[in-house]
Amino acid sequence: MNISELLARNARKYPQQEALVSPRERLNYQELNVRVNRLAHALQNCNFKQGDRAVIVMPNTNAFVIAYFAVMRLGGIVVPVNAKSSRAELEYMLDDSGANVLFVHELLFEELKEATFPPHLVKIKTGERVTGCQIFEEMINHSPETEIRCRLKEDDDASILYTSGTTGKPKGVLFTNRNILSAAWMMCVEMAMKPESRILHMMPLSHSAPLHLFLVAGTVVGATHVLSPVFTPEALVETVEKERITHFFGAPVAYLFTAKLPNLQDYDLSTMKYWVYGGAPLSRPEVGLIQNAFRSDRLVCVYGLTEAGPNGTLLLPEEHAEKAGSIGKRAALGMEIRLVNEKGEDVAAGEVGEIALYGESVMKGYFRKPEETNRVFQNGWLLTGDMARKDEEGYYWVVDRKKDMILSGGVNVYPKEIEDVLVTHPKIREVSVIGVPHPEWGETVKAFLVLAEPMDNIEEECKRFLKGKLASYKIPKLYERIEELPRNATGKIQKQVLRGKANELLP
Ligand code: ATP
Repeated sequence: MNISELLARNARKYPQQEALVSPRERLNYQELNVRVNRLAHALQNCNFKQGDRAVIVMPNTNAFVIAYFAVMRLGGIVVPVNAKSSRAELEYMLDDSGANVLFVHELLFEELKEATFPPHLVKIKTGERVTGCQIFEEMINHSPETEIRCRLKEDDDASILYTSGTTGKPKGVLFTNRNILSAAWMMCVEMAMKPESRILHMMPLSHSAPLHLFLVAGTVVGATHVLSPVFTPEALVETVEKERITHFFGAPVAYLFTAKLPNLQDYDLSTMKYWVYGGAPLSRPEVGLIQNAFRSDRLVCVYGLTEAGPNGTLLLPEEHAEKAGSIGKRAALGMEIRLVNEKGEDVAAGEVGEIALYGESVMKGYFRKPEETNRVFQNGWLLTGDMARKDEEGYYWVVDRKKDMILSGGVNVYPKEIEDVLVTHPKIREVSVIGVPHPEWGETVKAFLVLAEPMDNIEEECKRFLKGKLASYKIPKLYERIEELPRNATGKIQKQVLRGKANELLP
């Protein structure tokens, strides 16, 4: 079984079923499959073969989806890249993946004009003609629509996704066809996806959760995909109402922004079966705030990381009442979870350990990086770099990322614990805590704050607020007010930017 073949099968089963809805056009499964075949024929004419890599740098558009399935139909390896990547990042990923083809959207083309492309690269852009580029629409219009049978086998390489690089230089995460399908099937079952499901895609399809858990999963069952190139809170609720959406996946920050819409209650959001969030933690008060604002008890938390395909665990709607803030109690379908110590042994009950995941959707490895691959696998288990604790009822609570942990005076301090308390201060909108070098204690705790209201003396007010709520060694010694927290394209806080900022100020 292979991913692109499943699309062809749906075209035969549900030809008239709506497949893609975008601001420009609506395509049914038959029309989508015809375009995929046509583009695949055109790619064959460019000498594109099984195992070749094609980078797609496009926002969430029909062209992205057609290119994704066309490359797979030829047994090629798809490398979706975030449309907001800088020129230097794109150059790095083209070089690292050894791509022969680049798909680029017209809106991004101007930005990339100055980029240094490998000489052999076939550049394909949407929109108007440009010297040196093939035109996406022309390739489709001028090619035959005869069905190409995909020769991709279960364990063949299918895709490379680059990690977002919040903890270092992006690494190519290599997935086989089986890895991706396992992740997708898990989600079809867990989120009860059906041909009637209508999935809204507002998060970049270049990331593993939107791509595998929603685009591929929805395509497996023949659901309708509604594509939106950008996220805004207004667009989210307007589209849910207009397109009668049933499933949405968003980063926590997307929910937090939307919860602030003053007229949220004017929208009919009753078609929604699952509001799924993940990719970063949400605290219990934040979950409560979102549930109230959305008037919904259909929230689902997914926990995972690109390398896991990405999903490791789920916290289902009915579990939110008691366990909001946790990542759930059982691994997702087909996955296993353990908490391990530095030696890879299971930690004792109640102790903090590193989350290790096992299952079919876990990556094959980092692309052409055997040493880095060996470092994250231990007897087939993926070491996630996330530290967690299991409560008496078996629920997992992420305490923090191992790399973000602060070692102060020989004691481990988890920034997330401090952030969760500080953010409940009525005058604080957002907070991020890091460790900064200290001559005596190794590191000391520093808080960056985005204020909702002015404070006379930030340090005094915060320290007073935290006294009694946190052990004294966890109370930040340093405070800095900033206008906004640095975030990456998926809304994740970039702690390395804050660390750089803090280091600049050191004597
Ligand atoms: P890089 O790996 O390059 O540093 P990244 O951290 O953004 O980039 P992703 O795979 O996008 O890589 O993110 C995975 C991480 O996000 C997890 O390891 C975990 O720390 C965090 N995460 C994901 N889902 C959740 C969740 N539901 N709750 C808490 N943390 C989460």
